[in-house]
Amino acid sequence: MNGRKEGLDAWAACCQGELLQMVDLMRTVRRRRFLKQASVAALALAGMGAGICFAGYRGWLSDRITCSEVMQLLPKYRAGQLDTQLSRQIALHLEQCPDCGPGDRQMIPVGQGSP
Ligand SMILES: [Zn+2]
Repeated sequence: MNGRKEGLDAWAACCQGELLQMVDLMRTVRRRRFLKQASVAALALAGMGAGICFAGYRGWLSDRITCSEVMQLLPKYRAGQLDTQLSRQIALHLEQCPDCGPGDRQMIPVGQGSP
């Protein structure tokens, strides 16, 4: 009986101390792990965001040429001397640019429409 009681006390005391330590340790580990994961996730998100923004910006830039470029290339564009990508860019610009669009429609050369 005596030995059993002492054992229980010892176990309880030990358990309490170890539990507190373990809980403390687990909290620290969890917090560290969470902080690490959060920072990694934040970094990844920031990187992805920057990459997407950069790619979008590059795509936006490559799809748009300036009005003066369009004006310079327009004769070649009309003659069909430009490569497909450039022609597509000019067509897109003429569709969307309020400065070039209407002027372009007025400047349709004679001979392209009705003979
Ligand atoms: Zn324009």
